[in-house]
Amino acid sequence: MNRSPGTSKLLQVFQKQFPYFGTNKSREIFRLINEISKIEKMPFNTFLNLLTTHDYETLKSTLLQRRYPKTFHKNSLNSYYLPKYEFDPSKMADISQKKFYPKNIYYEHDTAKSELFSKIKVLFKKSDFKEISSLKTFIKEHHFTLKDYNNRCNTLFLVKEKYDFFKKCPCSQSVVNCGYSIMNLGIGCIYDCSYCFLQSYQNVEGIIIPYNIDDYLVDNKIVAAEKGFFNYKRIGSGEFTDSLIFDNITNFSQKIIAYFKLKKGIYFEFKTKSTNIHNLLSCGGVENIVAAWSVNTKKITAENEFKTPSIQDRLLAAKKCALAGFSTAFHFDPVIYYQDWRRDYQDIIDMIFDFVPNNSIKWISIGTLRMPSIQKPIIENRFPQTEILNGELLLGKDFKLRYDDNLRIEIYKHLTKYIKSKKSKTIVYLCMEDNNIWKTVFNS
Ligand code: SF4
Repeated sequence: MNRSPGTSKLLQVFQKQFPYFGTNKSREIFRLINEISKIEKMPFNTFLNLLTTHDYETLKSTLLQRRYPKTFHKNSLNSYYLPKYEFDPSKMADISQKKFYPKNIYYEHDTAKSELFSKIKVLFKKSDFKEISSLKTFIKEHHFTLKDYNNRCNTLFLVKEKYDFFKKCPCSQSVVNCGYSIMNLGIGCIYDCSYCFLQSYQNVEGIIIPYNIDDYLVDNKIVAAEKGFFNYKRIGSGEFTDSLIFDNITNFSQKIIAYFKLKKGIYFEFKTKSTNIHNLLSCGGVENIVAAWSVNTKKITAENEFKTPSIQDRLLAAKKCALAGFSTAFHFDPVIYYQDWRRDYQDIIDMIFDFVPNNSIKWISIGTLRMPSIQKPIIENRFPQTEILNGELLLGKDFKLRYDDNLRIEIYKHLTKYIKSKKSKTIVYLCMEDNNIWKTVFNS
């Protein structure tokens, strides 16, 4: 395996000190030393020199205890995910702000007759347009790597979506299902959030936009959506892309609003971090259209949500939408644990309730940091400075990393209590949590 020069050098020093460890023992101990030296801001070599024992069992136990001080004695050793540690600087995310202007635009044959294609031709005159037989074939023929993910904004795919217009939210098994349904308006995002699940999900170098939005707005599928524990059906579009980030290109929101404003009893949610609300405002507010923002503390936003508008700007956009007559919603997702998390998340809750007309806020969801385990090395390579992995994330049976139950309950109790202290009618719910966590948070 090719390691970066930096990682190879550290590994050589490590192997000199522990020459008798085989592949697996080396992997675990090398990773733990790297993680601890990063968290404690101590150079790798300095920390290595402090290690006196050469006995694997003792060393692993000592290091795990230091790396996971709050959870070490409470969990099985299998909970600690210790994949190979390798950092390749060429995989780092480019976090510089750039205007979205794809160099290459690939389009499926049918799309060329569409209104959206004509608009894209005008907007991106200098782009290279190429017809493809299908996105599926393109994916089969092009090898995709993490480095390609970093170049995704150079390419736009305009496709005809045939199957995935509308589906139930694919939340994990065994979590409480809130009944949400998803309308899939594309895949890919031009922002770069360190925790974004698209990094481990997307398998093509580009942003995918379907042209055939009219095919989505079909009554029988939408009317059959579930209610879950809400009194109304909820449908949203921010799962595989930000709901509004491309709305100035697609104008999808105009068609969606025109359709859903006649569907009382169904709430359609645009979930975004953008301030791209021009189309919404020009349509005029409707109570069952929900303009929703993902929010986080100023520290987490500045250090992890690259290229996104500030929290102040998001709340200003929310206020404009509320004043125009839209409902609003907020998603604290992912909540990330760090020393001043209580104070900092309370500040954002205060800002929301001070700034946005309270009667517009339909719901607020809270979900703590979680990710498929394969995402951990991706984040380490793309965002080596981020501290979000410093927390005690444990591996569950579903191969996802998350904080232990006690910490998640503590976070949820604290935030739900603080939101409820605002005495609004807002519904507060948890995202991707099981029945036991819900009961403990809401019944005690
Ligand atoms: S805004 Fe959402 S979709 Fe875009 S990078 Fe951030 S987490 Fe991913």
